This record gives sequence, structure tokens and C-alpha cells, in this order.
Amino acid sequence: MRSFAESLPALEPLSRSTLRTPVDYRGYRELLESWSSLENARVQRIGRSVLGEPLWMVEVGAPKATKVSAVIAGIHPIEWIGIETAFSLARSISKNPSDDRRVCFFPLTNPDGFRKVEANLRDGKRRWVRSNENGVDLNRNWPTHFRASTGLLAGHNASGPSACSEPEVSAIVSTLDRVAVDASIDIALSLHSIGNMILMPWGGIWKSPHAREEHLRVANKLKMRLGNYTVRQVSHWFPGISFAHGMEIDHLHQAYDATSILIECTRGEVGTLRPSAYIDPFRIFNPQNGRERAATIAAALEPFVRGAL
Ligand SMILES: [Zn+2]
Repeated sequence: MRSFAESLPALEPLSRSTLRTPVDYRGYRELLESWSSLENARVQRIGRSVLGEPLWMVEVGAPKATKVSAVIAGIHPIEWIGIETAFSLARSISKNPSDDRRVCFFPLTNPDGFRKVEANLRDGKRRWVRSNENGVDLNRNWPTHFRASTGLLAGHNASGPSACSEPEVSAIVSTLDRVAVDASIDIALSLHSIGNMILMPWGGIWKSPHAREEHLRVANKLKMRLGNYTVRQVSHWFPGISFAHGMEIDHLHQAYDATSILIECTRGEVGTLRPSAYIDPFRIFNPQNGRERAATIAAALEPFVRGAL
């Protein structure tokens, strides 16, 4: 990861750059350098994106531990606060790793999209980026409750032609399947933005998972730690119209029996007294002081990821 990061052009940090609105987030090279400089962490390349960027898993904790937590970030490439939060979590956990649990981090699911967002920031272009390079929403491409929706009608939620058709999703699913051969993935967290929400399965069907009580217990404890967040089952969001087929949290729960939570981190800059933020997709999804907010959110989530909530 380090040598790959070093091969990328060293651009001015986004926090110190001459952008119209500097933001306190790591760009692509800085992000890879930060992940590769974590102590007590094992880095593994697990695949390549549509455009050939490497996909990574970073593992923290006892190598042979049979209890595993999975943390996924950057499925939606403009949701940078989730990506920073994953890094903050990894940094904190790696300083004091557990003896009986491993945490498998997937730091950046959609690197092609992320790079596009970074280029837009540097060029001063206000663009919303949601899909991967094939135009697929990587949170509709997972096997559980998958339903093919492509073309114009699917719009921004295009699922791809079949489950795991996209290399970014397929790499994570096959890696977790391998991990699950001799370990139990009992905790899963996916980090998104926006909306201050704690979401639980199912997204693809109306009924509740059999482990509803445990999900509610965890979600309500997280709500106490996070503050002003709403707890919801994804498919109950807008009754009848908010089914999300092929979501990561459905799959993580169905395939591995994990208690599987999606966090919509922050409300971006919406609600602040900066009207210019309302027409800038990056600032709708992400607060300006990204690293500071990420550290706060990560501290609230850490006991869950450690299996100690
Ligand atoms: Zn998202």
C-alpha cells in the first residue's frame, strides 16, 4: 500500500490547498499513506477496481482470532466522512488491539469514484458522484435480496446485471467468505453519509430479521453514544417505497449472521449558516472539519466494533 501510495502524484493537502473551500479530509494518496502507516495492522490487496485501482483489506487484532468484526467504508464515493471515520476507528483500535478479536477494515470500497470526487474538489466542480465506473450503485450489488435494476429507470440506484457483477463488491464478498471459513464474523459496520441515522436490516424486504432484538439493542446503545441520531430498519423508512435491494448490511447479516449496522454519519453542512454549502454536493454530505468529526463518531462506535457494547 505504501509503495503504491508513493507512486501517486504528491498533491497539496486538501486542507491546506488553494481550493475555494478547503476541507479537512485526506485525498487519495494521503489516505493510502495513512492506512499503510498504522501500527499493528496487516495490509492485503484483495482485488482491483474497474479502472484498476487496488482494493485493500487492513486487518487489526490477533491474526488467528475466531471472532471478527468487518468495517466497510467508501461504498458511496462522495461520503468522505464515513471514510475518515473508518480510519479514525482503525487508528484507535490498532493502538490497543484486542487479543481475541480481529477487525477487518475495507477502507475504500470505491476508489475510482473517490478519485473523481477529489478531482472535482480540486477543480472547483460541484458534482454528485454515487456509482462506480460502470454506473452501478455499489450498495445495490450484494447477493442478499439482490434485484436487477439497470438502465434509465434505475437511475442512481442501478444494481448491475447480477449480484457481485462489480469487482469492488465481489472482492469484499469473496474475502469475507474466506475469513468466515474458520472464524465468525459476528459484527459488521458500514459507514455512509448523510442524515444522522443508525440503520439496520432488512433493506430488501419488509419483514424484520430474526435478530431484530439484538439489532435494536445495539442501535439504541449507539444512539445514546452518538446523540442526535434516528434508529430505523431500512425498508421501514418510507413504507412501501424505500426497499433497497442488494445492500451490504442485508448481506452481512444474512451470509455471516453478523449484527449489521449502517451509520449515516452527520448532516454535512446542512443546517449550518453557510447557504453556499447547500448547492455543493460535497458539503451536503460532509462537514468541513472532517477529521475532528470523524474522531468523535469513531469514539462513539468503537465499543461496538470491539464487541464490547
Ligand atoms: Zn451512502
